[in-house]
Amino acid sequence: MAMGADGIGLFRTELLVSRPEHLLDEDRQVVAYSAAAIATEGRPIVFRTFDVGGDKPVAGFSIDGETNPFLGLRGVRLCFERLDVFTTQLRAIARVGRDHPNVEILIPMISGVEELERVIALLAEVDPDHRLKIGTMVEVPSASLLAHELAARCDFLSVGTNDLTAYILAADRTNTSLQGFYSELHPAVIRTLSSILVAGRETGTKVSVCGELAGDVRALPLLIGLGLRHFSAAAPMVPRLKHAIQSIDSQQAQELASQVLQSSKVQEVEDLVDEWIAAH
Ligand code: PEP
Ligand code: MG
Repeated sequence: MAMGADGIGLFRTELLVSRPEHLLDEDRQVVAYSAAAIATEGRPIVFRTFDVGGDKPVAGFSIDGETNPFLGLRGVRLCFERLDVFTTQLRAIARVGRDHPNVEILIPMISGVEELERVIALLAEVDPDHRLKIGTMVEVPSASLLAHELAARCDFLSVGTNDLTAYILAADRTNTSLQGFYSELHPAVIRTLSSILVAGRETGTKVSVCGELAGDVRALPLLIGLGLRHFSAAAPMVPRLKHAIQSIDSQQAQELASQVLQSSKVQEVEDLVDEWIAAH
């Protein structure tokens, strides 16, 4: 908040779990989430439910020895396997939401409508009167293709460009030999993001980006041009983003976005973005 943010767009709750017994400690979670909700002073705070597995193992929760953990039991899929853990967390967030109407909940690794409906039903079971806004992370390509249907069933979409890029391009961004393959400015990624934003507009659903791309000042004119209006970035990036946004004319940014959406190569996208920045 000290950096001038309008809220917290992504609270990674798995970071609070250093010991397996924390997973089932509802009161401990309530204390931690309440402290964060108070610190945001009424501005929105989005708690992402445990996103464990893949690159985020947690002892006593994630599955050891999966052949391909990134395509395995990650995020909400793992939570469905451990309903004791998941319902404890849903109850804790719902409890905090009762005292703090600024609390929202975000579900990671949703790949289809069934999963979102199941979470909505579980939340209604643990607290039939909850007033939490529910968001879907769009980070699996199937979710981007179903963005209209998901948007129609929840309150907001939050695009996880880190995983979405990795899954669209089949490239692990932490693998240094794949650096030439992983690019958030890949035309396929930008077109996918554009289609999610269109789905948001057509269904009247808020769309934010919570992956690293949201904090990239270079990509900012393009993102504005595509119609993105909600950015969830690392705290140190907030002042720079807020400053840069002031000098972007959305009409001119839209022209950039239309050109980028015609591009078929990463280099073309990068050149268009850099030329636009140099000229404005
Ligand atoms: C993402 O995938 O873009 C994201 C924000 O989630 P994480 O990086 O925590 O997987
Ligand atoms: Mg992710």
